[in-house]
Amino acid sequence: MRQQHLLHPTLRDNPAEAEALSHRLMLRAGLIRQLSSGVYTYLPLGFKALRRIQDIVRQEMDAAGAQELLMPALHPSELWKESGRWDVYGPELMRLEDRNGREFALGATHEEVITTLVRDEIQSYKKLPVTLYQIQTKFRDERRPRFGLLRGREFLMKDAYSFDRSAEELDESYQRMYDAYTSIFTRIGLNFRAVEADSGAIGGTDTHEFMALADIGEDTIVHCPACKYAANIEKAAGVAPPLAKAANQFAAAEKVYTPNTTSIKQLSEFLQVSPQQIIKAIALKADGRPMLALLPGHRELNEIKLKAIIGATQVEMLSEDEIASELQSVPGFIGPNGLSHIPIIADQEVRGMTDAVIGMNERDYHLVHVDVSRDLPEFTYRDLRNAAEGDRCTRCGHELAFTKGIEVGHVFKLGTKYSEKLGALFSDEHGASMPMIMGCYGIGISRVLAAVIEQHADEQGIVWPHTIAPFAVHLLTVSMQDDTQRNVSEDIYHTLTRAGIEVLWDDREERAGVKFHDADLLGIPLRLTVGRKASEQIIECKERRSGKQYELNVLQLLAHCQ
Ligand code: ATP
Ligand code: MG
Ligand code: MG
Ligand code: MG
Repeated sequence: MRQQHLLHPTLRDNPAEAEALSHRLMLRAGLIRQLSSGVYTYLPLGFKALRRIQDIVRQEMDAAGAQELLMPALHPSELWKESGRWDVYGPELMRLEDRNGREFALGATHEEVITTLVRDEIQSYKKLPVTLYQIQTKFRDERRPRFGLLRGREFLMKDAYSFDRSAEELDESYQRMYDAYTSIFTRIGLNFRAVEADSGAIGGTDTHEFMALADIGEDTIVHCPACKYAANIEKAAGVAPPLAKAANQFAAAEKVYTPNTTSIKQLSEFLQVSPQQIIKAIALKADGRPMLALLPGHRELNEIKLKAIIGATQVEMLSEDEIASELQSVPGFIGPNGLSHIPIIADQEVRGMTDAVIGMNERDYHLVHVDVSRDLPEFTYRDLRNAAEGDRCTRCGHELAFTKGIEVGHVFKLGTKYSEKLGALFSDEHGASMPMIMGCYGIGISRVLAAVIEQHADEQGIVWPHTIAPFAVHLLTVSMQDDTQRNVSEDIYHTLTRAGIEVLWDDREERAGVKFHDADLLGIPLRLTVGRKASEQIIECKERRSGKQYELNVLQLLAHCQ
C-alpha cells in the first residue's frame, strides 16, 4: 500500500476527550474515528488490525471444531420475551419499533436466536454435540461508554454457543473453548490471565473470564502467587468476605482517570454550596464509578450547572433511594444499621479523602458523610496495596495479590436455562426427550484491539505485535525528489510485495522528520529507511519494539523480511 493514497488522518496533539492510552493512540494514529458516543468507524489501518484479530479467532475456532454462521442483529421482541430477558435485561438492550409498531431489539447477545435455530433444526442426539459461532456487531446501550473501543455501544464480538447431550460433554466443549481462547490471546500477544468469574444473574456453574492485564482495566483480579488461584474480585468477595473490603478499596483507588475535572473548591464556588456539602454528596459505586449527588439545592439546576463544568457524560444525579440501593451492593458494606468505612476516591478532585463514613440511618442528611474537618493524608495506591496484602489466600494461606484487568473474553457453562425456556430438546438414544446442555463463549474483538494497544505502546506510539500488525514492513523514503532513493524504494516495494509481505510505503512528499514521527506512531514492526546510502544499495532497518538499528544491503532484504 502506498501511503500517499492511504486514509490515515494522524493527529499531532492528544485529543482532549480521550482518557485511555489506547483511545488516544488510535485517534492519533488514524485508526478510528468516533461517530457518536461509543460508536466508531474503523479507518483502513484500524480495520486491517481488526481483521488480523478476526483471522486468528477464526483459525482457532475452526481448529476447535466450531462452525461459523452469521445471525441477524435485529431480533423480534417475542424471542426475548420467551426467554424472559425482555424484562430483565434492562436499558442496556437497545429497543426499537418497526412501522407497524412491532417491537425489536438490537442483538446484545445471541442466546435466544441461536437456541431457537438449533431447536428448530436439531432433534436427534445423532446431530449433537455442536458448537456454532459468529463474528458480529453487538449493540449495548452502556450506561457509560468510554475509553474508545474498550467500552462501546456498538462493538464487534465473537460469540460461540455449544450444545451438548450431557454435563460431561459440556465439560469437554467448555475445555476446548477455554484452550482455544488461551491460544488466541497468546497468538495476539496479550499479557492475560484466565480467572474464575462470578456467574451472577445469568445463573450457571463454571465460568471464566480472560483478563488482559492493564491498569486502565475496570475489573480487579485477585490472585495467589503460590497456588495460582485467580478470580475476579466480584467472585472472590463471595468466597472470602474479609477480603472484600480491602479489595474494594483497591478497586476504587485505581479508578483515578478523570484528570480534567474540576476541584471541590471550584465546584463549591460555582454551585454556591459549601465544600462539605459537596463532599457529603459524593458516593462511590461498587465498581468504582464516581457519582455526584448534590443534596442541598434544586436537583435539576445542579444538574445543569454540573454538566456545564464537568461535561455531560460524567454527571449522574441520584436520589436518596438510588444511592441507598447502590450502596447496598458494595461488597464489604455493613448495612443499614451499622456503619462502615469505605474510602472515597472517585477522581482527582476527591483524592485525599479517605474516611467516608456511611450512615444509612441519617436519611435526611443523605447517605454519605465525609469528615473534612481535618487534613487527610494523600491516599495512594501503595496504601491500598498494603491494606490488601493483609489478606491471605483461603486455599493455601499465601498473601494475595491484586491487579487490574480488561475482560477480553468470557466462557460460561449455561446448562439448560435457555434450552428449557425455548424448548430446545433432543431425543436421546432411548428416545427420551432431553433439554440440550449449553455453553456460551464471547470475545470482544474490538475491545481486544484496544487492549493490545494498552499493553503495546510507548511514548512515541503503538508497538504492534507482529501477529496483528496492519503491515509487516514500513518502507520509508527520505526524499521522493531523489531519483535514486525513489527507484531503490520502488524496487524494494515490488520485491517484498510480490513475496507476499505486506508493505506500507511512505512515498509522501513530506519532511523526513514527519515521516519518522508518523512511523513511530503507527508502530509497524520493521521500518526500512531508504536515504542517502541508497546509491550504495544500503538500507537502514529499525525494529519498532527493540529500537535496534542496523544497515542491510538491498540484496539481503527479502531474506531478512521473510
Ligand atoms: P463488561 O463486564 O466489560 O461489561 P460483559 O461481561 O458485559 O463485559 P459479556 O456479556 O461477557 O460482556 O460479552 C463477551 C465479551 O464482549 C466480553 O468479555 C468483552 O470482551 C466484550 N464486551 C462486552 N461489552 C463490551 C463493550 N461495551 N464494548 C466492547 N466490548 C465489550
Ligand atoms: Mg457488560
Ligand atoms: Mg463482565
Ligand atoms: Mg462477561
